[in-house]
Amino acid sequence: MPASDHVPKPYKGPSRQEVLAMRRQYMNPAIFTLYGEPLLIVEGHMQWLFDETGKRYLDMFAGIVTVSCGHCHPKIVAAIETQVETLQHATTIYLHPNIALLAKKLASKMPKGLDVTYFVNDGSEANDLAVSMARLFTGNTDVIALRNGYHGGSPSSMGLTSHNTWKFPIPGAVGIHHVVSPDPYRSPFSGSPEEIATRSAAEIREIVRYSTPGKIAAFIAEPIQGVGGATHGAANYLREAYAIAREYGGLCIADEVQTGFGRTGDHYWGFENFGVVPDFVTMAKGIGNGVPLAAVTTRMEIAQALTQRIHFNTFGGNPVCMAAGLAVLDVIDEEGLQENSRVLGKRLKDGLKQLSERHQLIGDVRGMGLMLGVELVRDRKTKQPAKQETLAVLEAAREMGVLVGKGGLDGNVLRIKPPMCITSEDVDFALDVMDRALTAAAK
Ligand code: PMP
Repeated sequence: MPASDHVPKPYKGPSRQEVLAMRRQYMNPAIFTLYGEPLLIVEGHMQWLFDETGKRYLDMFAGIVTVSCGHCHPKIVAAIETQVETLQHATTIYLHPNIALLAKKLASKMPKGLDVTYFVNDGSEANDLAVSMARLFTGNTDVIALRNGYHGGSPSSMGLTSHNTWKFPIPGAVGIHHVVSPDPYRSPFSGSPEEIATRSAAEIREIVRYSTPGKIAAFIAEPIQGVGGATHGAANYLREAYAIAREYGGLCIADEVQTGFGRTGDHYWGFENFGVVPDFVTMAKGIGNGVPLAAVTTRMEIAQALTQRIHFNTFGGNPVCMAAGLAVLDVIDEEGLQENSRVLGKRLKDGLKQLSERHQLIGDVRGMGLMLGVELVRDRKTKQPAKQETLAVLEAAREMGVLVGKGGLDGNVLRIKPPMCITSEDVDFALDVMDRALTAAAK
């Protein structure tokens, strides 16, 4: 394991067993943990996490793709501390510089014209709000989303989400239609990735023609599906999909909750990898490095649609969260984290591809920058999902001090999305651990 000079504080809180017992007794049982023996995490420093015994882990999942700059990054912590001591909360009914500064800064990172932001607390709220604005602006109701996508767990964003595992049998969203994902690995279409992308985009037209009044409010997609397991289409997909959606009056929403802020390496935003300009960009997770902060940015004329009634969000634009967001954006630039994602993402992906030559379990390695997925299958021909083996890899890697995530409809994709501050030594260590964990899981 690469060295770290961070010494965790002695842990004096309740034991792991006590915490677990309290969770079991007093918390909603729907709140799940990842490992067979749930991990108690009590401290973090940049790419490192520490359990109650002081054992150190390399965090390759970043608090579910949220800790963009590193745990307890000193500059971000300092910005938060200063703001907490000065003014913690006021709401948007008064002026505060932080919210205006962050909105201006976000505009400077967006394509021209996308310069008006509404701050909320989480990704689900951001997507809900984008869909509401699209409906209000267009006067249409229907929304097209992608199969295998994840856009949130609120009643209406759950409707956008397209995994049976994340959907409850309760009424909620209306007018949402899911079209085939352009991911070539499990596509019902054959041909090159570009051909699959074209055929997948063409499905949007069919859905609009058959299942809607012929007009839509929006098309929403993650440039790279996160929860779905780092799946994405060829470079032509979003361009063709956006063109068809716009032909039927739809506005295009890029859900950048996981792909934004430099993570894909070559570009600051995921959508830029596909040569498109959306009408809305929704953000959460990495924008706050761990504070509850989310946003939806659009054009002024669209945002105007929300002024016809009162809309308010108590914590949206909170000065502390805004201070964090401002510091996060600075750190990403000052520390070259997008470039780090590009260079180390390539090193990691190349290494994972090499592992796939030796490990039959690996069916596919995909993703961009530091947003990677490794799909595990029992048989490369039938592509039968290797669900148990995925859990075994997760457990074995954790034993060896590396935390990775899992995703995909069948829970058979390793999700590797570390804080963007990792080093080449960390990448090599993670690859060595993955190699051993895959060997252990195959037995
Ligand atoms: N969009 C995407 C792409 C996500 O990955 C998530 C969360 N996993 C959400 C939206 C919802 O975000 P939140 O959990 O903050 O509501």
